[in-house]
Amino acid sequence: MASTDPAHEPEEETAVETARRQLERAAAHLDVTESTLERLRRATSVYRTTVPLERDDGSTEVYTAYRAHHDDVRGPYKGGMRYHPGVTEQECIGLAMWMTWKCALMDIPFGGGKGGVVVDPKDLSTDEKERLTRRLAQELRPVIGPMKDIPAPDMGTDPQTMAWFMDAYSMQEGETTPGIVTGKPPVIGGSYGREEAPGRSVGIVTRKALEYDDRDVTETTVAVQGFGSVGANAARYLEDLGADVVAVSDVDGAIYDPAGLDTNDVEDHDERPGMVSGYDAPESLTNEELLTLDVDVLIPAAVGNVLTGENAHEIQADLIVEGANGPATSTADRIFEDREIPVIPDILANAGGVTVSYFEWLQDISRRTWTLSRVNEELENEMLNAWAAMQTEYENRDVTWRDAAYIVALRRVGEAHDMRGLWP
Ligand code: GLU
Repeated sequence: MASTDPAHEPEEETAVETARRQLERAAAHLDVTESTLERLRRATSVYRTTVPLERDDGSTEVYTAYRAHHDDVRGPYKGGMRYHPGVTEQECIGLAMWMTWKCALMDIPFGGGKGGVVVDPKDLSTDEKERLTRRLAQELRPVIGPMKDIPAPDMGTDPQTMAWFMDAYSMQEGETTPGIVTGKPPVIGGSYGREEAPGRSVGIVTRKALEYDDRDVTETTVAVQGFGSVGANAARYLEDLGADVVAVSDVDGAIYDPAGLDTNDVEDHDERPGMVSGYDAPESLTNEELLTLDVDVLIPAAVGNVLTGENAHEIQADLIVEGANGPATSTADRIFEDREIPVIPDILANAGGVTVSYFEWLQDISRRTWTLSRVNEELENEMLNAWAAMQTEYENRDVTWRDAAYIVALRRVGEAHDMRGLWP
């Protein structure tokens, strides 16, 4: 609800507002020209289209879809397509900006894109999802391509969605084109390890952040909000290292075991919806209670804007690692900065997803499959390189981890713009 008190943060800061504030903070530390900055504050383009769907009952529903292109100075646009009732043009632009920084921080040769369909996938049958996805692939043809813009899974979409998308695009193209999307099942050109990658990278950077603070992962308690693909894989990775994952949640609520849950026994939200809050654990909590638990590490891995001016003062974790895109509003971020709670930003923490997407794209265009151990080894290397670049800025400039990550990313994007120049 909007407030009349100007000091009171609106409940819903849009992704693009958050992203622009973060850009300005990083820009204050760098010599990026004003003309480049002005370009980076905006999306290059936003494509809006309608996607008609014949429902199973024979009626027709028409949905709105967007594909935002933020910046492609370093390579083709890259980013997910989400199916969610809350998708808006502004959200797609903000999420596309985050993809630009994520790819630059990881030093992979992609730019930032993102899109979505305004639809609740829970309302659709599997057949309806397939028809919607095939028609979407057709509607997006003018703006996508394996060397132009490569979609991937995001909220509400998964490897099966990417398989339908790739098939529809390939049928129209007249040739199998696996590099049109990433996040496909391995049997049709997907990469081993892609599904687990965003959660795995959250685990890797949590390990690094604990090491940086001289903390022993085996003496660490972790709470994970959102036990979908990202949250479950992060939790399992950290449990394997010896951490106690004491709480996890889905949309319906959280489960809590102070002695540590068996995260392999809890089926994740995608494996079996509703099973997390239905799991037989010593205690159940609300999602809000999970966020304010007295744990060492909090991993918000559900949706955006869950850490706000309203609850940031109540957070008791010593370290926050962002599994979701944009889980903290700018106000929450300032409160964490004042309270000296380190926040490892989304653009690093969940970047394993787009990094293994890049590996997948390389495998698709070179027609050569990598083993899972090669994928995981190269992912680990890329994460450690990005961590090192961020750490250098963190130490040299005495900024937050987020600012440090943005400084690395913006410097790379800014230099690329300077080098290519403005055409014509
Ligand atoms: N949707 C994921 C993200 O937000 C993955 C994007 C991709 O793999 O292109 O990073």
